[in-house]
Amino acid sequence: MSQRRPASVPAFDAPELQPLKELLITGHHILDREGITDGYGHLSVRVPGADAFITLARVSPRLVDADHLVMLDFDGNYLGGNNTPPFEWPIHARTLRARPDVASVAHTHSVWSQLFSVLPQKLRPLNHYGSWLPAEGLRVYEPAGLVRTIEQGDALAATLGDAPAVLLRSHGDLVVGESIEACVQRTIRLAHVAHLLHLALLHGEPRYLSAEELAAFNAGGRDWARGWQYHISRLPEGR
Ligand SMILES: [Zn+2]
Repeated sequence: MSQRRPASVPAFDAPELQPLKELLITGHHILDREGITDGYGHLSVRVPGADAFITLARVSPRLVDADHLVMLDFDGNYLGGNNTPPFEWPIHARTLRARPDVASVAHTHSVWSQLFSVLPQKLRPLNHYGSWLPAEGLRVYEPAGLVRTIEQGDALAATLGDAPAVLLRSHGDLVVGESIEACVQRTIRLAHVAHLLHLALLHGEPRYLSAEELAAFNAGGRDWARGWQYHISRLPEGR
């Protein structure tokens, strides 16, 4: 698929996109370093002011660099970069289309998300690292199989609704954020919360946080800069 780039979309090599590309590459490396992604999974960022986004080309998150990024519109039309979009590009395209408040989307096959995607227990927040999650727990997208079509992407975005994340049954997760830094750290924290909940459930029924208690943890907002610097410090040399 390809079409002429609309005037509202900057050229893929435009200098204004460079900082976002660098954050996107770093975000992929962080997700790999933290054991969230493996050979698969992807992160995307909205092109500001345009119906377009940038994600990694068909390469493992650990290996992504400036030569392995691709820009698409929300229908999957190619707009620039390495023209090998990931098979599940509709996850990003249709979520960003449905959620104007979102700047970045992550999709991973995290073992922790897969675990709670098949359990009767909902993945609910029970500590402050999960304070961005809904008290009632995450919804689960039921259809099996990869999200390869616009229709499947729209169905996934509808299941997500206005939530910050959704689980994909027997598959993984989708996490959104107002920035790449927020999206990546939410994705890491989702695995942390699921791991903690798994441990807690071994002892019986845990105490979850109520909506009011979550609001107390969220008072004053969230600064993602410190955590981002921490995760960068853990990357191997040269990344
Ligand atoms: Zn997938």
